[in-house]
Parts: sequence; C-alpha cells; structure tokens
Amino acid sequence: MTPPSEISPAVVCSEVTRQYADGGGIVGAGGPTVTALDAVSLSVSAGEVVGIAGPSGSGKSTLLHLLAGLDTPTAGAITIRGTDIASLGGRKQTRFRRDNIGMVFQRFHLLPALTARENVALPLVQAGAKRRKRRKRASELLAAVGLADRESHRPGALSGGEQQRVAIARALAADPAVVIADEPTGELDRDTGEQVLDLLTDISDDRAVVVASHDEYTLERADRVINLLDGVRQ
Ligand code: ADP
Repeated sequence: MTPPSEISPAVVCSEVTRQYADGGGIVGAGGPTVTALDAVSLSVSAGEVVGIAGPSGSGKSTLLHLLAGLDTPTAGAITIRGTDIASLGGRKQTRFRRDNIGMVFQRFHLLPALTARENVALPLVQAGAKRRKRRKRASELLAAVGLADRESHRPGALSGGEQQRVAIARALAADPAVVIADEPTGELDRDTGEQVLDLLTDISDDRAVVVASHDEYTLERADRVINLLDGVRQ
C-alpha cells in the first residue's frame, strides 16, 4: 500500500501568516508589526514546478524560507510530505530538512575554498555518507548538470551559470522530494538563465519544485504561478 505521505501533495501550506516586529522587537510585545505573509495557502505536488511571483517586498522570500523550514510561521502550518516541520525540534528538524528539501539561492552560496565536487558533496558529509560514496554521487550529479569537466574547479574559476548548476547539483545531493529556488536566475544573463531553468524543470520529474522570481521568462516555465501582493495570495 502506498504510504499517505506519497499520496498527499509534497508541500502543503495552510493559512500561513508571518509577522515581523517592525524595528526588530518581539511580535506580540505591543510594538508595531509587519505582516509579511497573510493567511497564505498553497500546495505543490511531486512533478510540479510552481512559480511564486510578486513585486519586491510582496513576501516571496518569507514564503520560501518558511517552506524550507528556515523560519517558523506566526500562524498556520506547513507540511512537507505529511510532516509539520515546525513540530520537529532541533536536530530532528535539521535532519528532516537535509533529507527532504534542497535549496537554490540567487547568489549560489557555494563555499569558495572548496572545489565544485566538494561543494556538491557537502550535504552528504553532513548526512554521514562515506567518502567514496560522496565522491561518486557528487561526480554523477556534476555530470548530470553538464559539469563533468569542472569537478576540480573552485567557484571563483566558474562562470555564474556554472556556479548555479553546481548549486543545483548540491541541492540534489540528498535526493530531496522538494527543491526551493529563490530568484535562481537573478544573477544570470537570459541565455544562461534559460539553461538553469531547463535544469530546474528537468529535475521536477519526481520532485516538487518551487521557484520565486519576478522575471516573466522564469515564471513562464512554471506549470502554475502563485501571485503575492503585500503578503496576500491574489
Ligand atoms: P520579497 O521576497 O517578495 O521581496 P520579503 O519576503 O523579503 O519580500 O518581504 C516581505 C515583507 O516583509 C517586506 O515588507 C519586508 O520589508 C518585510 N520583512 C522581511 N523580512 C523582515 C524582517 N526580518 N524584519 C522585518 N520585516 C521584514
């Protein structure tokens, strides 16, 4: 029998609100608050690429951080493959994130002192995989993103598009069910951005992919687009 987590959508976000204390205080302490997200609901199934659109300040990054379990909602709940991330404590939450969610950022976030292969293998080091297995998996992933001949290069010796492909390979290292990309083409020219988007759509075969962007051409590639304005789903 298929477990329930395989039937339900990979990502479910129910009535999620995130408030920040304006000026850095504590929400609820009586000071002014900013509502970055206001009761947003959405779900993403395996195999879908969902775009998150909206002007600067509309809540895209806040939503992505919440979906990735890097932040906790003020109200509402987020489940990834049936598990409410906020309900997991400390180490369990870190492990859950590592095993289930891959992240891709606008500015790549690669470690400059490590080679491409070492960057890709990093999540596997944290997961406790043996050195041989890590190297093999990292090499396979780099080959899959078209960088077999760049394994030993450090990020500084790679172009922006190549760095982003390394970052995507790294996001896939633990074979996560969910990939979250925040403005993945923001630093790239149009042609290079298209190649990165090809890659992100290719990997969605059996994964849920969520891509925030304000580029039309990025959003056109999504199966579905969710629009945010002032923290509210339109
Ligand atoms: P986007 O990614 O669409 O540009 P954000 O999610 O970064 O939007 O921001 C949404 C709103 O929340 C904005 O009004 C922003 O100023 C506010 N905001 C984001 N992070 C914080 C924070 N740490 N403290 C206070 N306000 C924040």
